[in-house]
Amino acid sequence: MAARILNGNTIRDEIYAELGAEIAALRAAGIQPGLAAVLVGDNPASKIYVTSKIAACEKLGIAGFNLTPPATITTAELLRIVEDLNRRDEVDGILVQLPLPPQVDAKKILEAVDPAKDVDGFHPINVGRLVAGRPNLVACTPLGVMEILRRSGTAIEGANAAVLGRSDIVGKPMALLLMHANATVTVCHSKTRHLPEVARRADIVVAAMGRAAMVTPDYIRPGATVIDVGINRITDAALAEKFFANFPERLAGFRAKGTMLVGDVHPDVASVAGALTPVPGGVGPLTIAMLMSNTVKAARMRRGAGIPAVAAGVRP
Ligand code: NAP
Repeated sequence: MAARILNGNTIRDEIYAELGAEIAALRAAGIQPGLAAVLVGDNPASKIYVTSKIAACEKLGIAGFNLTPPATITTAELLRIVEDLNRRDEVDGILVQLPLPPQVDAKKILEAVDPAKDVDGFHPINVGRLVAGRPNLVACTPLGVMEILRRSGTAIEGANAAVLGRSDIVGKPMALLLMHANATVTVCHSKTRHLPEVARRADIVVAAMGRAAMVTPDYIRPGATVIDVGINRITDAALAEKFFANFPERLAGFRAKGTMLVGDVHPDVASVAGALTPVPGGVGPLTIAMLMSNTVKAARMRRGAGIPAVAAGVRP
C-alpha cells in the first residue's frame, strides 16, 4: 500500500494563515515584527535560503532586514553587526545564515546573538531551555517536524521514535522535542550498529543525515511514519536511475534538468511506510514557516506583552 504523503506546503499554508491573524493583532497594537538576516559572502545555496526567508517575511507583513557583509569579514566585524542588531528595537529576530567563512568563529557569533532574538534557537541558553523542558525559541527544522506530526494526526505519546542524525541544528533538538512529547526516542548516528534494525523498531523515523536515499525500505516497519529532513542535490544520472527506477515521472524531470533534490529516504520507502514527507515539499517549507513563527513569538515576548496569542497551535 502506498504511504500517505504529508504535504509540507499545505501545513505551511495553515500556519501562515494563523500567523497572519497574529501579525495583524500585533500591528493593530503598533508592533510590526522584524527579522534581520545576515548573509555573509555569496554562497549560492545560502543566498537562495535567505531570499526565501525574506520573501516569506514580505508575504506575512514581517519587516525583513537583509545584511550582506563580504566573505572577507572578520569575527570582530561580524560581532559588531550582531551587537548592533541586538540593540535595534525594531529587530525581533536575528538569523546568521550558516555556513560562515572559515576565518569566522561561528560559535562566538551565534553566542553573541541576544537569546531573546535568537529565532534559529541555536544559542546555548535556548538549547538549555529546551533540554530543561522549558522551551522558548527552538530550532526551526525540528519544530517544523513536530508541526507535521501533530497536524497530520500522528500519535507521538508512547510511540517509539528513531532520529537518524545527532547534529546540533536538527538531530539533537528533534530528539528532545519528541522526548518531551512523550515518545521513546533512540538517537542514531554514524557509529550506530545495525542501523536498519534499530530504525525498524520505530513507529516514527526522522531521517536527518545528509545521505541521499540511504534509508531503504528495510529500515522501515510497515505502516511507520517517516519524516525525511535530508536535502541532497544529485547530478549523477546513474544514481538518479538507481533511486527512481520506480518513479518514471521523477526520472523524466531529472533527464530534463540534469539535477534533482533527493532526501535521505529512498523513494521506494513509499511502498512500506504508512506516511511519508516528500522531498522537496515536505520538511523544507516548514523550516521557513517556523522561522516566521519564532520571529512573531520573539516580537510578542519582547514588545507585545498583554496581546493575546492567536496562533497557539504553532507554539512549542
Ligand atoms: P550534519 O550536521 O552533517 O549531521 C549529520 C548527522 O547524520 C550526524 O549526526 C552524523 O553522525 C549522521 N550520519 C551521517 N552519516 C551517517 C550514516 N551513514 N549513518 C548514520 N548516521 C549518519 O547534518 P544536518 O545539518 O543535521 O543536516 C542533515 C540533513 O538535513 C542534510 O541533508 C541537510 O541538508 C538537511 N537539512 C534540511 C533542512 C530542511 O529545512 N529541510 C534543514 C536543515 C538540514 P555523526 O554525528 O556520528 O557524524
